[in-house]
Amino acid sequence: MNNRKFLCLDCGEQWEVPPCTAGGKHGYEIPCPKCGSMKKSRVEADGSQTACGGGHYHGHGHGCCGGHK
Ligand SMILES: [Zn+2]
Repeated sequence: MNNRKFLCLDCGEQWEVPPCTAGGKHGYEIPCPKCGSMKKSRVEADGSQTACGGGHYHGHGHGCCGGHK
């Protein structure tokens, strides 16, 4: 599984996060490393963006931000 890529909606920072592991953070729990914002989009491998960080994904298995499968 490839790294997850995120785009900060506040400052425009893009960064990559290694895939989730057991006990690891979900994408929506990871703040921007530059400005600390939780408002971000996930950038898919094909360049499309997925809204993320809304906090309405409860539990595992939804596939948001490369969560646990
Ligand atoms: Zn930021």
